Amino acid sequence: MSHDMSSRIAGFNVSVFRVPLPAPWVSAAHAITHHEHILVTLTLENGLSGAGWSSTMGNAGIAIAALAQSYLGPMLIGQDVHDHEALWQALWKRSHQPGPGGIAALAVAGFDLALWDLRGKLAELPVRRLIGSAADSLEVYASAVNLHLSEAALVEQTRAFLDAGNRLFKIKVGRPDLEDDLSRIAAVRKVIGSRPLMLDANQRFKPGDALRRVTAYARFDPVWMEEPLAPSDVDGHARLAAVSPTPIALGEEVSTRSSFWRYVSSGAVHYLQPNVLKVGGISEWLKIAHLGNCANLTIAPHGALEASIIVAGAIPGCYPVENIEGGSFLEQGIAQVAAKPERGRVILSEAPGLGVEFDRAALADHAASPGDHVPLPDPAAYYAGK
Ligand SMILES: [Mg+2]
Repeated sequence: MSHDMSSRIAGFNVSVFRVPLPAPWVSAAHAITHHEHILVTLTLENGLSGAGWSSTMGNAGIAIAALAQSYLGPMLIGQDVHDHEALWQALWKRSHQPGPGGIAALAVAGFDLALWDLRGKLAELPVRRLIGSAADSLEVYASAVNLHLSEAALVEQTRAFLDAGNRLFKIKVGRPDLEDDLSRIAAVRKVIGSRPLMLDANQRFKPGDALRRVTAYARFDPVWMEEPLAPSDVDGHARLAAVSPTPIALGEEVSTRSSFWRYVSSGAVHYLQPNVLKVGGISEWLKIAHLGNCANLTIAPHGALEASIIVAGAIPGCYPVENIEGGSFLEQGIAQVAAKPERGRVILSEAPGLGVEFDRAALADHAASPGDHVPLPDPAAYYAGK
């Protein structure tokens, strides 16, 4: 193990922010009014600092920050950033008992990203090139959390995405009435023509009705059916995947390598969608992606735009990166980001580290603290009657 003074961790800082969305996001499972961001800064003995982050859709950010602050951060003091894998394993092991996955994985992700940021800065390389550059630019797909929009508003949103240069699209499905879904998909198809369209049900269906739904949607030739069932239902997904006319995509609520392995080994998924933050960071995401590659699956990074761009640029053959309207740090006004989507593509950055510079002054307005009451609204209330 290296004992270079310049790469030893001297201190850490954890802070948590709750940033309101200009308008709510509504899927079949969630109504989201805020993003929460947990920022983790690691400072080396030589004064260099690296920033990582973790994010939630307005839920449990305080708990993640507390786990990071009180239990995980202190473990890193005096450690060498180049022992990254050993540090990741130690963080994971420490948080396994209250985890694994969920809050624990999100807390580990903040440190993992900060370690990568520091390693990139020490090497004066962008992290994607430190990992092993596989692309200089990437395609993104236009995505939105839009189950509550009226059909007219959905069409208008889709047209705006198309006019902005996007070539691939994803919409939410899972209205209680199947005919509503079919009418909305048909309206979107009319706008985008034969361009790729993905459908996302956010775990809405039960095994008894999933096949009927997927079969009905299939006439519109979707690229994939995302999260048709509960994320814990590996067997249900396997049975559905065996007969579904449309490939199955999932992974955004699967947070351990071993859970992904169960999906992959049982043939329950076609497009693997690990979320960099929810699996414990870049280090673990890469392992899950390689696991998917072994089974000849396509890896489609879920959400987490700024982190997904880095990992998708580091391994070959990723599906275009998800660009959720209103979800980027730039749209939220909380960071400068070196690589940003334009006309459906993103040119990857040469900035050392992760290429994300948080705007601490902008974030200060959104500081969150323990004891805050954060109501989580009922999604169905937003689309009733629309
Ligand atoms: Mg989804």
